[in-house]
Amino acid sequence: MVSMQSPIRNRKYATEITPDNDGETVCIAGWVHEKRDLGGVFFLIVRDLSGFAQVTLNRKKTEKDLFARVKKVPRESVVAIEGKVKSESKAPNGYEIIPERMEVLSEASQVLPLDTTEKVGAELDTRLDARFMDLRIERTKQIFIIRSRVLKAIREFLDERGFIEINTPKIVSAATEGGTALFPISYFEREAFLNQSPQLYKQMLMASGFDRVYEIAPIFRAEEHDTTKHLNEATSVDIEVAFVSDKEVMAILEELIAFVYAKVRGYPGLAKLNLNLEVPKIPFRRITYEEAIEAVSEAGEEIEWGEDLGTSAERTLGAMIGELYFITDWPCAIKPFYAQPADAEAKSKDRDTCNAFDLMHPRVELASGSQRVHSYELLKRNIESKGLSADSFEFYLDTFRFGMPPHAGWGLGIDRLLMSMLEIENIREVVLFPRDRRRLAP
Ligand code: ATP
Ligand code: MG
Repeated sequence: MVSMQSPIRNRKYATEITPDNDGETVCIAGWVHEKRDLGGVFFLIVRDLSGFAQVTLNRKKTEKDLFARVKKVPRESVVAIEGKVKSESKAPNGYEIIPERMEVLSEASQVLPLDTTEKVGAELDTRLDARFMDLRIERTKQIFIIRSRVLKAIREFLDERGFIEINTPKIVSAATEGGTALFPISYFEREAFLNQSPQLYKQMLMASGFDRVYEIAPIFRAEEHDTTKHLNEATSVDIEVAFVSDKEVMAILEELIAFVYAKVRGYPGLAKLNLNLEVPKIPFRRITYEEAIEAVSEAGEEIEWGEDLGTSAERTLGAMIGELYFITDWPCAIKPFYAQPADAEAKSKDRDTCNAFDLMHPRVELASGSQRVHSYELLKRNIESKGLSADSFEFYLDTFRFGMPPHAGWGLGIDRLLMSMLEIENIREVVLFPRDRRRLAP
């Protein structure tokens, strides 16, 4: 054949070929997934993005040199094969290819870091070390195709509702909230940080009259902990909406989640994950922070008013509720300075609550949001009462002095959404190249 070095002419995907193509000459290209020597017959299974194709060689009928080369090609090498389609009910997709030519486009080394046929399992660490090869495994590949679909669905949903997609800086001068540790970087002669959230910037755009914005971007958290739900670089979808309260953005959030589940449920590749995905019913249950700590305390985990719910309390509560739910009316003390305090009449027992909420999956927190403070004076006081310096927030605070509408928003962790939706234990599984306390490469 004419050299098939790129581009591969007339390349067909394995699933594009059907038994109806019987007798036609086709070209497939992909990785050598498996080789099976049955004596008189030799099978080469080629894997491409779409699936598998069986290449069948008959020891007696196949030209000697071709037979020898096919037999010798190491597993996971990249090959292009031209041959005749023959209908064969026992082969994947109902056909086999009787090869006429094969070109080895890239020969793989003999000892593979992972077994792509999954006959030999591997630890997550080993898989992440050889992630490029782990992604050749069907189940892993499907997770990332689903991730892509989730991102598309989110954009589709928000675009339809008139949101403007924005990009805000990831190199910043000030902490968003104080609490979480930041990654310092050297920025010429100054110190800067990797942004922990687009919070301040998306709020500033409310003063610009953008009304409904969203951003899908990395967030950086220099948290030391090594858990199955925290990353040091995560992806968040953030929205901010003007002229509404927390109630409206909660409704947007639950509708978005149901929309994403429905989109994923309709995707055939989901079958590879052996998952029976149910679209959650909306509206989600809403419980107040006070009800949450009462329920948890009754279950034997004492939580004082004003304490945050830890992982264990979240799990206890999740097990009781068993579906997606909101926790509302949080104490101001454990929510950021930009959360709007509740009106006097909405407060329970004179306690300082704010119009903030968390969206919870029974296993893990998915999102946090609130109505925002839009009064300059109150915001400044709040920043100072949290022990932060108003000066370092000047660029942000200033936007509240020249016409800032009331607004609300939330941040939703994409990685958390995926791990919970796909019932995956470790968040690292749903990130191509995760960053954690120990992992900086690949
Ligand atoms: P947690 O209490 O679970 O550590 P958080 O309350 O600190 O999370 P937020 O600041 O509220 O997180 O961020 C909004 C959302 O972003 C979270 O609900 C979560 O889905 C996601 N997120 C935040 N930090 C991380 C992280 N380190 N790894 C993965 N996702 C994260
Ligand atoms: Mg939170």
